[in-house]
Amino acid sequence: MPLPEVEKIWMDGELVPWAEAKVHVLTHALHYGSGVFEGIRCYSTPKGPAVFRLEEHLKRLVRSAKLYYMPVPFTPEQLYDATFAVILANGLDSCYVRPLVFRGYGEMGLFPLNAPVKVAIAAWPWGAYLGEEGIKHGIRAKVSSFQSLDHTALARAAKATGQYLNSILAKVEVTNAGYDEAIMLTGQGHVAEGSGENIFVVRNGVLMTPPPSDGVLEGITRASVLQMAAAMGIPCQERTLARSDLVIADELFYTGTAAEIVPIREVDDHLIGEPGPITRRVQDRFRAVVEGRDEEFGYYMEYPRG
Ligand code: PMP
Repeated sequence: MPLPEVEKIWMDGELVPWAEAKVHVLTHALHYGSGVFEGIRCYSTPKGPAVFRLEEHLKRLVRSAKLYYMPVPFTPEQLYDATFAVILANGLDSCYVRPLVFRGYGEMGLFPLNAPVKVAIAAWPWGAYLGEEGIKHGIRAKVSSFQSLDHTALARAAKATGQYLNSILAKVEVTNAGYDEAIMLTGQGHVAEGSGENIFVVRNGVLMTPPPSDGVLEGITRASVLQMAAAMGIPCQERTLARSDLVIADELFYTGTAAEIVPIREVDDHLIGEPGPITRRVQDRFRAVVEGRDEEFGYYMEYPRG
């Protein structure tokens, strides 16, 4: 899908025209994947554009940068304000926001610590990543033959650009085989996550999701779903899951910023079915929160400061 272009992108402290937000071809991150990033969503609410858990996303960005030895040259407060500056300068309300911290131009080779650290924040209108139909009726998922890389290979708690080559292999493999999204397993055969989503299993009324020790990204939608489900009295567990747990699940769904909450109706050609009652409750609660209609979790929505 071509990117819907808007007017401005924030780069290192300034709003620059979209077409001029460029880097040199010898940018370190282009060669070695030495960047960390976030995917964030802004929603239209009665009180104006509001960003879902912006502070949590910026905290994860700083953690990701730390894991790859990158000092972020802006404070979280500056990045918070810059995020709203991009949204408002482009006249956006509901949109996707993409902050990127990366090693720039000036050094080559694998020792990155002398390459400058650059920061950009872009925003653009982006609809449901796995489709509106997917959100309503569920999608078809397939376990990829590519394992997710574990904590012995990478800093799994980081959301780093280079790590997504692993996800790209899984995504292309299952897409070419006619499925909508991948499920990746760890080297031990534990269920990990989608190519860009966490995964949840419902069985006998209990909501389960793999723990970070199984190499999953600590998804902000994942954490929010666990909190909202607990508040609704749904028993929740973070536990290691096996491939069979997917097939014998009563309900399955993905969570992620781009995807939001997407039911899985088929896994490896086994029918799970139309979205079940727990999936629906969690989806409805999430929708109420992002539309600014939920008091208890209203604090998830963040607004421009001052
Ligand atoms: N896992 C992976 C690999 C991801 O890329 C994402 C998207 N950031 C997620 C899980 C979900 O995380 P979040 O809910 O914070 O978007």
